[in-house]
Amino acid sequence: MRPSFHPRLINDPFNDPGLFIPFLFQKRAVVFDLGNIHGLPAKDILKISHAFVTHTHMDHFIGFDHLLRIMLGREKILSLFGPPGFLKNVEGKLSGYTWNLADKYNYPLCLQITEVQQDFTLSRNYRCQDRFEALQDPVRQPFDGILYEEPAFSISAVILDHQIPCLGLAVKERFHVNIIKEGLQCLDLAPGPWLSEFKQALYDETDPAAKFEVGMPGRPDKKRFELGNLAGQIARITPGQKITYITDVVYSESNREKITEFARDSDLLFIEAVFMDKDRELARDKGHLTARQAGELAARSGAKQFKIFHFSPRYTDQENLLYQEALEAYKNFP
Ligand SMILES: [Zn+2]
Ligand SMILES: [Zn+2]
Repeated sequence: MRPSFHPRLINDPFNDPGLFIPFLFQKRAVVFDLGNIHGLPAKDILKISHAFVTHTHMDHFIGFDHLLRIMLGREKILSLFGPPGFLKNVEGKLSGYTWNLADKYNYPLCLQITEVQQDFTLSRNYRCQDRFEALQDPVRQPFDGILYEEPAFSISAVILDHQIPCLGLAVKERFHVNIIKEGLQCLDLAPGPWLSEFKQALYDETDPAAKFEVGMPGRPDKKRFELGNLAGQIARITPGQKITYITDVVYSESNREKITEFARDSDLLFIEAVFMDKDRELARDKGHLTARQAGELAARSGAKQFKIFHFSPRYTDQENLLYQEALEAYKNFP
């Protein structure tokens, strides 16, 4: 399976957490957490359409300013999601700057901010031309675990405990479209951006009898197919990819249960491992996991692969110990 999502941690595991998730063949990405994002080139930052912030401790939210700085003056809608209190946090950030020239931009940026509560969300828009002052009251909607949805994928959240509410996040493809190379060769087609249009047509449940045209570089004429026919020859449908991101959580019974359920059968689980298990008292005090607890949670939830991050600086040059501890817990889980 060639994954549709190619997640990568923005920084090394000793630096601020953040997961950048670009989409295959699309100039588009979502991001989980906004710590220091200076490691992302501006061209990648500009791909971000949706940002999800687990909680607003500085190491997870300081990158908001940089994101805003890069996007300002562009005709773009940027959606941000965060935990309870998020609207106030974002408003606080926005009111920290002077916007008297903001209405002069030719290309106005619009921020759509959503705060996630236990069973509802509150959303509010802030437009550059209004100097980022909200003109309407927040809109309340029921929340059933899915924060955002498109035909091809959904992003869900769960509220976890970090001595404050903290969001666990997951992106899940609805199903995965595998492209069969031999099928392409038989039809004399080369891979290219048309494949994402083709996949999108399948996610949109377009009528299989509809015409689908494939244009390729260097060839003036387009090849025409019936969508269903083409799908039968070049595609195989398998279950969708699931990527889960868990950080800044205390190892409590309630978190264990919620995380196990939420991360169930992830293809890839990103999970914090701030401390070593010998320092688990410290981990509990600060509302974090140890590497061993991270490995156990990965095993319990049946994650096919997992990656640990958010290491405490006290283990500088000893990261191999953290990896080892997590892997042993994962492998030896009953
Ligand atoms: Zn943190
Ligand atoms: Zn934190």
